[in-house]
Amino acid sequence: LASSSHLSLPQTSALELDREHLIHPVSSWRAHEKRGATLLQSGKGAWLRDTEGHELLDAFAGLWCVNAGYGQESVVQAATEQMRKLPYATGYFHFGSEPAARLAAKLVDLAPPSLQHVYFTLSGSDAVEAAVRLIAQYNHARGQTQRRHFISLERGYHGSSFFGAGLTALPAFHRGFGLPLPEQHYIASPYAYRSAVGSDPLAIISASVAELRATVQQIGQDKVAAFFCEPVQGSGGVIVPPEGWLKAMRQACRELGILFVADEVITGFGRTGPMFACEAEGVDPDMMTMAKGLTSGYVPMGAMLMSDEIYQTIADGAPAGVPIGHGTTYSAHPVSAAVGLEVIRLYEEGGLLANGQAMAPHFARVLANLADHPLVGEARQRGLLGALELVSNKQTKARFDPALGLADRVFATGYRNGLVFRSFGDNILGFAPALCFTAEEFELMAARLRKTLDDVL
Ligand code: PLP
Repeated sequence: LASSSHLSLPQTSALELDREHLIHPVSSWRAHEKRGATLLQSGKGAWLRDTEGHELLDAFAGLWCVNAGYGQESVVQAATEQMRKLPYATGYFHFGSEPAARLAAKLVDLAPPSLQHVYFTLSGSDAVEAAVRLIAQYNHARGQTQRRHFISLERGYHGSSFFGAGLTALPAFHRGFGLPLPEQHYIASPYAYRSAVGSDPLAIISASVAELRATVQQIGQDKVAAFFCEPVQGSGGVIVPPEGWLKAMRQACRELGILFVADEVITGFGRTGPMFACEAEGVDPDMMTMAKGLTSGYVPMGAMLMSDEIYQTIADGAPAGVPIGHGTTYSAHPVSAAVGLEVIRLYEEGGLLANGQAMAPHFARVLANLADHPLVGEARQRGLLGALELVSNKQTKARFDPALGLADRVFATGYRNGLVFRSFGDNILGFAPALCFTAEEFELMAARLRKTLDDVL
């Protein structure tokens, strides 16, 4: 009774209930208590409406996930039909469901040819955790249990499971959590704007390869399990590596005898142009993690793909009939799988992937045209993933003092101007428009963004 009366309370009370009871992900709890939530109510295409009636152009696709845009009726239908027919099927006890099997096959078809087997998860964090745990199984199966060390990039983001948050190299995910673990190591990110080796692409690539090699040697080559990276770093501030970087890192991992794991949770499903960012450079990872665009955020789902070699080694390494103890109740959820299949159909047959590719130059222009703004140090972009880095001095690239709270101010001003994007603490503005954005919407985005920067100047 208590909860049903809560549900019927008017909107103002929903704000109070949120403030009192709901813990928001990756947020300052105290700041949230003071500020309260902004409740989002509905969406259509690239547009959001909040409970106060504001109409907002969402240039961040929710949390870089609603790649297909809001309000896609065929996705709603696919979910409803599957819920009606069979809302749940476990993957335990050799059960399964048709949509999950079809989606696994579809992902193998779309992913680089090295990847043949799919494990479904509930999120990107869960996909990273699955990769880490199954890498341990792989090493156990081939008698190399000493390979316990993992290398990732500074400013990398690999979710917030316990081990994944240690692969993540952002201070808020470590502070007070006892992370990173001694077996977690970082190398510099290919951050041309602030690289110690300058902005020359070849110099950046060689520096990354050299640092990876040196780190592996220092740990001991036979003790390193894997290198994890995002093809374009997202939550670390949209750091776009030079072309050829991903391929060079993959090749270095092969030479060093360590696994190469591509975390495509953000970059997958057309975000950077092709279906997966690895495709652009013909990179064939040993494992790949994905989520977000897989279901376009309509329902939760992630996936971890692995090579046949890893799969066969793990399968052969387990004693006959003994289960490999990794799994969750909702792995390969049939409703999520049905949604995933329909969302991918929209990317392919529905023309969204092609539209995203056609719109990328418009997006690039929106950002590039703002590079002359007094606040903007750098505009960078690949496909429909981009950033503006704000600086207090364009010559020295000096950052604003975080105490000024500029990031929050830019975000709030953007919102008032009817534009949603992401504002990172170090004053990098991140953008990830949906693949359904139109040329007119990019024009509107350009106008609202310039006004926002002018307003905070
Ligand atoms: N990996 C990357 C590259 C991500 O960007 C994210 C989330 O933003 C994750 C993993 C974690 O995904 P999730 O938030 O679905 O757990």
